[in-house]
Amino acid sequence: MMRIHGYYDIDVVNGPGTRCTLFVAGCEHRCRGCYNPRTWRLDAGTPFTLQMEEQLIADLNDTRVPRQGLSLSGGDPLHPHNVPHIRRLVRRVRRDCPGKDIWLWTGYELAELSAAQRVILDAIDVLVDGRFVEAEKDAKLQWRGSRNQTIWWLRLLPLTPPAEDITPSGLRFSD
Ligand code: SF4
Repeated sequence: MMRIHGYYDIDVVNGPGTRCTLFVAGCEHRCRGCYNPRTWRLDAGTPFTLQMEEQLIADLNDTRVPRQGLSLSGGDPLHPHNVPHIRRLVRRVRRDCPGKDIWLWTGYELAELSAAQRVILDAIDVLVDGRFVEAEKDAKLQWRGSRNQTIWWLRLLPLTPPAEDITPSGLRFSD
């Protein structure tokens, strides 16, 4: 079972628009200056139950407070232990929450993802990759903590990404 450190049913900080955000447990990168080392342990936090998943799906589809999508952060959603759980969750969101986008933050770089991790890319819209590097820290960056991290626009979103958030190494793919 995957464990989580937190769930915000309404979040306007972690990604564009109003969102649901899930912070999962488990990270093996151990970046110096990590904003939240208590998320590193896989056995920390609380279990992500089916009941929580149902609530997340209901929140994403709640028309009283329209959500643009789901943000997955941590910890690291692509920690090998979390991969099967996240794969199932993103596929379910795709199926049951039409029109919602999915952003995912990971400490791995896109180029080093395993085949199992890459499968998840098929079901998300945006990947923000790379470890947090204190020497590259820049408070002006949006949705990234340090300049070495890249926002990968895996699909064309209805949202137009701000130009300053596409790094020269970033790519945009369309369906
Ligand atoms: S990848 Fe993120 S959660 Fe993991 S150690 Fe680095 S900053 Fe912390």
